[in-house]
Amino acid sequence: MNRPYVVVGGGISGLAAAHALMDKFPKSEVVLLEASHRVGGKILTDRSHGYVLEGGPDSILRRKPEAMDLSQQVGLTPLGTNPSARGAFIYYRQKFFPIPAGVQAGIPTDIKALLASRLLSWPGKFRAGFDFFLPAMTKPDQDVALGRFLRYRFGDEVVDRLAAPMLSGIYAGDIDQMSMEATFPQFKQLEREGRSVVLESRRRQRPRTPNPESLFVSFPGGLESLIEALVAYMTRVELRYQTPVDRLEPTADGVRVMIGNQQIEAQGVVLAVPAFEAGRMIQEMSPMTANVLEEITYPNLAVIGAVYAPGSIPIPDHKTGFLVPHQPGMRMTAATYVSSKWHYPGVPDGHVVRAFYGRSGEDVLKLSDNELLDLYHREIASTFPGVDGPLYQRVFRHTRAIPQYQVGHVRKMQAVLSQMRHESPQVALAGAYVEGVGIPDCVRRARQAVQELG
Ligand SMILES: Cc1cc2nc3c(=O)[nH]c(=O)nc-3n(C[C@H](O)[C@H](O)[C@H](O)COP(=O)(O)OP(=O)(O)OC[C@H]3O[C@@H](n4cnc5c(N)ncnc54)[C@H](O)[C@@H]3O)c2cc1C
Repeated sequence: MNRPYVVVGGGISGLAAAHALMDKFPKSEVVLLEASHRVGGKILTDRSHGYVLEGGPDSILRRKPEAMDLSQQVGLTPLGTNPSARGAFIYYRQKFFPIPAGVQAGIPTDIKALLASRLLSWPGKFRAGFDFFLPAMTKPDQDVALGRFLRYRFGDEVVDRLAAPMLSGIYAGDIDQMSMEATFPQFKQLEREGRSVVLESRRRQRPRTPNPESLFVSFPGGLESLIEALVAYMTRVELRYQTPVDRLEPTADGVRVMIGNQQIEAQGVVLAVPAFEAGRMIQEMSPMTANVLEEITYPNLAVIGAVYAPGSIPIPDHKTGFLVPHQPGMRMTAATYVSSKWHYPGVPDGHVVRAFYGRSGEDVLKLSDNELLDLYHREIASTFPGVDGPLYQRVFRHTRAIPQYQVGHVRKMQAVLSQMRHESPQVALAGAYVEGVGIPDCVRRARQAVQELG
């Protein structure tokens, strides 16, 4: 009997894995099992009122080719960001500060612009200059916390007011726990190969092109278009919704996928679910690996989307939003001026804002939707006094949203992957916790997982 290949989880990782399985095994059946009533996972676009309101991610990094390549294969045309909206503000102590020119991945490279910025105090700017004199702190084989590294080189002020909001936002993480090797490995190279991180970053800067392509892309109907196009393209993949997988059991030459009182005998399985789910599923097969996966933490997050009538909120159209350093009286971590950042075709006039809540170490989902909306309205009114109420608003709750890459993550994952290949070659792991949380990283890992299947 021809047994199918099974993918567990229908987020971008699972869909990309199903797509790759279809290509690699054209004669085999591919079945995708998804616990909920929809595929897409964290990718979710609300178009109910004619606007494009993203509930999860809003963009794909163009520089990493995998997601661009996948979207092209399923016939999508990318949409770049609005070229006149560049960079974000930092909102600190009730004031907006532009991010100083030359700051790249949280690292200042334009000293004049740093000195001119009012975001930092003079002692803070002076401390940042230590980078020119300090010896390297990193050792070739050692991972360190990103915060520890940056605090050593630039001081607390640059980290707390600039680098942390820019870098940890991507992971909703705590910069003092995040692994440098897993998140920004290039920093170690900059430190070890140059006289200072600033000078080495400057030396490596590429000359500016006159009309650069936007760094980030989406699609005219938002990111869920990628999910819809994949589903439409993968006619040979059987999608089963509301099918939560309980666990996997090894068989003599394959894997048994257990779903309530049903089971599927599979030739191979790609597990494309969050780490805590994958760990639970392989607990019997591979208890040591399962324990490592179950230890990976995921903070809860909330995204609030709000649509305002034209002229009712004074958001600028030359910036993409603002980042909020940790400070008393403001729980919002960032906000995107969606209607300035993206010119989605065919949407009605109006201003669209998305605000982000939830940091590592705080559980924002203890608040009900109404409490979250009250908090948002209070904070947005303190940021934009006189703002009118929105025409439409929605709370997106993300339970256990983003895996935290803590110090030692890369090595842990290398050990997990090698143990899985050794103990259970018919099961491969994919998902945001393995080799990167970005959508292109998820696609790359999913394709690799399919290649690893025995
Ligand atoms: C608010 C937010 C903003 C983000 N912004 C960006 C951005 O702008 N750009 C970017 O590149 N990345 C961004 N990310 C990260 C990116 O969206 C995610 O890392 C990525 O979408 C994760 O995809 P995934 O398929 O690995 O996991 P998920 O999307 O979590 O999918 C996992 C799927 O598995 C299913 N599942 C779980 N358990 C079971 C089970 N037992 N049986 C069957 N199915 C199961 C779930 O229902 C879900 O559909 C953001 C993330 C969040 C939360």
